Amino acid sequence: MITFLSGGTGTPKLIWGMRELLEDKEIAVVVNTAEDIWMSGNHLSPDIDTVLYLCAGLIDTATWWGIQGDTFLTHEALYRLGHDEFLAIGDQDRATHVVRGELLRQGERLTACTTHLCSKFGVGVTVLPMTDVPVTTMVSTARGEMHFQEFWVRHRGIVPISGVYRRSPAPPVTTPEVRAVLEKSDAVIIGPSNPVTSIMPILECPGVREALDGRPVLAVSPFLGKKPVSGPAGILMEAWNQEPSSRGTYELYQDLQPFFVQDIRDDIEVPGSYRFDTLMNSREKSRELAEYIMKILQI
Ligand code: GDP
Repeated sequence: MITFLSGGTGTPKLIWGMRELLEDKEIAVVVNTAEDIWMSGNHLSPDIDTVLYLCAGLIDTATWWGIQGDTFLTHEALYRLGHDEFLAIGDQDRATHVVRGELLRQGERLTACTTHLCSKFGVGVTVLPMTDVPVTTMVSTARGEMHFQEFWVRHRGIVPISGVYRRSPAPPVTTPEVRAVLEKSDAVIIGPSNPVTSIMPILECPGVREALDGRPVLAVSPFLGKKPVSGPAGILMEAWNQEPSSRGTYELYQDLQPFFVQDIRDDIEVPGSYRFDTLMNSREKSRELAEYIMKILQI
């Protein structure tokens, strides 16, 4: 089994290609939940939703969020009633959030909610939240402390930030399901996700690093020079006092002694790294990167 640690864009793009090489039952994904948020009474788990929709063949691969061809009738009707959701939520996407919210209110663990949704969507990949404890990535800005989604979507990521931290009511220990899947994995792949908001929240969960001990780990950089391929990873790395680059990314994962893959165009060299074209703008490019990774891992 191959297990991915994933956010909601870079790693799902890689899983897209890997699913051409491996059967779904050979793939597990431990997903970041530190971007989860309750909205209009429902529970959004943006990274889990992207992985679910990808594996169900429903993802919009132009945006890497939401369901392809979804409508926004409820979102628009809510706006007309004076209820302004800062995230545009599609009608079918909202149905997922309603079901998850209901199950959570009934006392279900997020892991059980995710398994339930996987079975309803006919997903054969094992998709697991990193923890059942609610965790939130918060950012400190001149306008106060806010949820990362609020900073990135409501404020379009333009408010200067001075810090990033996690908030949770209890230590976000990982689950027995995540430990079990990591322990039986032939290798663990950290895809090119945002190190600060997607991967470190998973690695910070007590129990994850222990379960990774002795496992072959491979990480793909989300940076090209000092800029990420997309999104706010650069400013978040800076707010974390980490160089916004492949080198800074490698430093965060270094203790896992990963094989490290950088893009062929990246002008910042990480000694000992592998080089490949990591820009996955088609399924074919994604599969080629997945094949290269399997060769490095000798699987
Ligand atoms: P989020 O949860 O939506 O923020 O998504 P992730 O954390 O999973 O992924 C965001 C990161 O993916 C960004 O830092 C991008 O630089 C990176 N990324 C997106 N597409 C690609 C790609 O095709 N190749 C590489 N190397 N990185 C990518």
